[in-house]
Amino acid sequence: MRTWKEFLREANYIDGQWVAARSGETVAITNPSTGEKLGTVPHSGTAEARQAIEAASKCFESWGKTTAQERSKLIRALADAALANRDALAELLTREQGKPLAEARGEITIAAGYLHWFAEEATRVYGDIIPSPWPGRRLLVTKEPVGVVGAITPWNFPSSMLARKFGPALAAGCTVVAKPAPQTPYSALAWAVLAEEVGFPAGVINIVTGDAQQIGGELTSSPLVSKITFTGSTPVGKLLMKQAADTVKKVSLELGGNAPFLVFDDADIDSAVEGAIAAKFRNAGQTCVCTNRFYVQAGVYDHFVEKFSAAVAALKVGSPLEAGVVQGPLVDDRAVQKVEELVADAKANGGNVTVGGYRHDLGLSYFQPTVIVDANHSMRMSKEEIFGPVAAIYSFEREDEAIRIVNDTPFGLAAYFYSQDLGRVMRVSERLKYGIVAINEGIVTTEFAPFGGVKESGIGSEGSKYGIQDYLNLKYICLGGLSDAPASVGAAR
Ligand code: ADP
Repeated sequence: MRTWKEFLREANYIDGQWVAARSGETVAITNPSTGEKLGTVPHSGTAEARQAIEAASKCFESWGKTTAQERSKLIRALADAALANRDALAELLTREQGKPLAEARGEITIAAGYLHWFAEEATRVYGDIIPSPWPGRRLLVTKEPVGVVGAITPWNFPSSMLARKFGPALAAGCTVVAKPAPQTPYSALAWAVLAEEVGFPAGVINIVTGDAQQIGGELTSSPLVSKITFTGSTPVGKLLMKQAADTVKKVSLELGGNAPFLVFDDADIDSAVEGAIAAKFRNAGQTCVCTNRFYVQAGVYDHFVEKFSAAVAALKVGSPLEAGVVQGPLVDDRAVQKVEELVADAKANGGNVTVGGYRHDLGLSYFQPTVIVDANHSMRMSKEEIFGPVAAIYSFEREDEAIRIVNDTPFGLAAYFYSQDLGRVMRVSERLKYGIVAINEGIVTTEFAPFGGVKESGIGSEGSKYGIQDYLNLKYICLGGLSDAPASVGAAR
């Protein structure tokens, strides 16, 4: 059984080599649950990014021509290797990110799930033959890999967000240069350890750590990169989209949300409370689909608040490596400061804290699971992503009013609602302007279904049969000069 330390690499992975930054500079990585230094990674910049892009571009010439079966086999081997080392990879993830070990194991499982899914999809990239409007011609549509993909990923799911990009990119025949988040580089580098072991050719997967602006600048401006895929905040997504415009790259963006969670009078309240805990407190509230606003209909408001507050008060906070702990620290102190600011602002604007509200006694970046009732729209947290373990509860009277309010946001990633009325279930799900609608469920992410937002929450979908399309270019081939009349026997001689 391998340990997490065996997967910890303190170097970039470029063209099949483990390399330092040219300057020799490094940055320290800290375990948020202990404050201890885990190790360092290279502080790379433009030069290393360029080197990785050149390697990926050169490799694309051969990798792009491999058969789908060859790629499928390697991607499957990568997924199997991740599962075989799930405990070690999960512990590495928990140590750099802070989520409870059980959640980290779940993340490795779904990361492998994405890879398995796209290993299958690699072999199903079909084209078309279009009925020709002209005699003597045949119209074909083929699909080709876009080329080199630049992937920039966040710290909240440092393993699965990258697998969700590696899977379709590699399946399509693309090569990748990835830049992980500065807080959590080791889970990304662990993919390179596994890729090397299962036999991916040098240059297919490259990982560069360091200066986000320099590496991002090179990825978005290089003519050798054909596509940018990014998961992170909306402001950075917009910036990357602007930077990528000059070379007209394809762009896939999975950005911030402001997820509402509606509880109607006819909901099963016990089930709504269970779903609410999952949709809010998973990963200490640090996911882009985490509920940001609870809207509870007046008739069940008190009942829901009472049961939900009791469930939140019972959540066990502690070291994420300890069994039974459901909430570890937030990723860093900046994250806690933001949560503190938002709670102070909510209190100043009429919110009442029924559970938590403060930093946790454990210190560092631990924060108490918190419930704020009597929430209203003058609070900053009604518009900004909390990204922490704070649940704000608003009340509403009518369905129409609730739909109008929850749609009144520039974001449109995930929305949740609880109702037992079939008519309402269909009506509300159709009226919600969100890319993902969860009904009577608190967690719906799976590699089998498309994940993506509308409005300022993003462009494109990850996972499912749709996920590979953004990594492919359509090519129309018009095959002309064909004689549709059979050659006569005489002419043939
Ligand atoms: P957060 O605020 O939650 O860290 P970000 O959007 O800043 O979210 O980070 C997501 C990813 O985007 C990280 O890998 C980060 O390093 C990267 N990033 C941040 N700023 C830039 C930038 N200017 N160019 C490229 N990548 C960036």
